[in-house]
Amino acid sequence: MRRIRKTRGKAPHFVPTLDVEAWLQRHPEALIACPHQPGNLKLMPASCVKRHLAANEARWATIGAEPFHLFVFKMNLVPCRDCKIGARLARQQKEIAA
Ligand code: SF4
Repeated sequence: MRRIRKTRGKAPHFVPTLDVEAWLQRHPEALIACPHQPGNLKLMPASCVKRHLAANEARWATIGAEPFHLFVFKMNLVPCRDCKIGARLARQQKEIAA
C-alpha cells in the first residue's frame, strides 16, 4: 500500500531581508572573532565569557576516559582556559556587574 504524500502548503520560502554583513559593520561590538577556535568562529562577548568561566571550572579541568560527548566538550574548552580575550571580557563583565 502506498502512502499518500501530504503537501506542506504553498507558503513562499522565507528570505531574510537583513544584510548581515552591513549590520555587523554598523555594530562591530556585537560579535568578536575568536582566534583560537577552529572555523573562524564569531561569537557574542557574553558567550565568550561563559566559555572562559566554564573552562576554568574545576569539573572541566581534567580530561580522562569519559563518555565521548564529555571528552569533546572538554577538548573544546581547552583553548578558552588561558585565553586572554576571555579573561579580559570576564573582568569587564564583573566590573560592570559590581
Ligand atoms: S575564551 Fe578565548 S578561546 Fe574561548 S571563545 Fe573566547 S576568545 Fe575564543
